Amino acid sequence: MIAHIVMQQINPHILAIDLGGHNLRTALVNEQAQIIDPKRVRTHADRTPEAVIEQITAEVKEIVDNHPDKTILGIGIGVPGFASTESGVIYSSPNFPTWKNTAIKKELEERLPFPVIVENDANAAALGEYWCGKGKGAQGFVLMTLGTGVGAGIIINGEIFRGSRGAAAELGHIKIRKDGPLCGCGGTGCLETWVSGSALELETGTKAKILYQQALEGDQKSKDIWIEMGRRLGTALSNIAFTFDPDVIAIGGRVSQAFELFFPGIEEVFSHNLAKHPAKQTSIVLSTCWNDGGMLGMAKLGFEHFLHQP
Ligand SMILES: [Zn+2]
Repeated sequence: MIAHIVMQQINPHILAIDLGGHNLRTALVNEQAQIIDPKRVRTHADRTPEAVIEQITAEVKEIVDNHPDKTILGIGIGVPGFASTESGVIYSSPNFPTWKNTAIKKELEERLPFPVIVENDANAAALGEYWCGKGKGAQGFVLMTLGTGVGAGIIINGEIFRGSRGAAAELGHIKIRKDGPLCGCGGTGCLETWVSGSALELETGTKAKILYQQALEGDQKSKDIWIEMGRRLGTALSNIAFTFDPDVIAIGGRVSQAFELFFPGIEEVFSHNLAKHPAKQTSIVLSTCWNDGGMLGMAKLGFEHFLHQP
């Protein structure tokens, strides 16, 4: 009880970091999920592990210097690619091709006076959305982010579902066709090659952002493209619903700006595929955490790890 009161008085924070190929986001987050002093900088142009780790170290030191009054329990960092929370190693990353088995937890802990926890960025975003967005209170929750590619995270009973090898929730590679453009994973027919921003651009010759604007202005051809994209997404979401029977599937990422335009396509296919299945009650909604989801998720994971675990 005394320890609990002391903790309340010191109002602990996690220094949350979202490392992306383009942007490095940092903030302090408290247990009420308040984001304090958020900052976004371009990720170091020299994408070697050394340069990026030095950049992260400098950013952390600046935050610490700016907030001498705050209690920081540790650092939570969301990273792109295949990473292990247990070992704190990034095995590989499409955003950082030269990174191989980079021990980011160890490297940061050697440079900074804080414990570090590492998680895949899509898993972190899902946990963030579960903590304070559309996944709140859900037993089963899936966040799918539509950007240049397709990312996803699955939360079951409040925990990230990582699979046997830490490689679960690669929903961008769910097959929705037999063929199609070659995917970064080496396969064809992947969801990512049919619904992502880059897939839409490759297929139509027009950027997703322009397709969105044209559809808003009433262009029927653009509207039809979004409906068809929604149908493709609906196929994948049906498979996810059959597998996990979640309460909620939230759609986020840059391309989800067009949610209202592609949602009718999702609904058409989803309600058809799940007509006789209880999972048809799954809510499919637009995410609310946007770019903050990754940091919020890392903060949640940080509190669980550094505060609540014995
Ligand atoms: Zn693929």
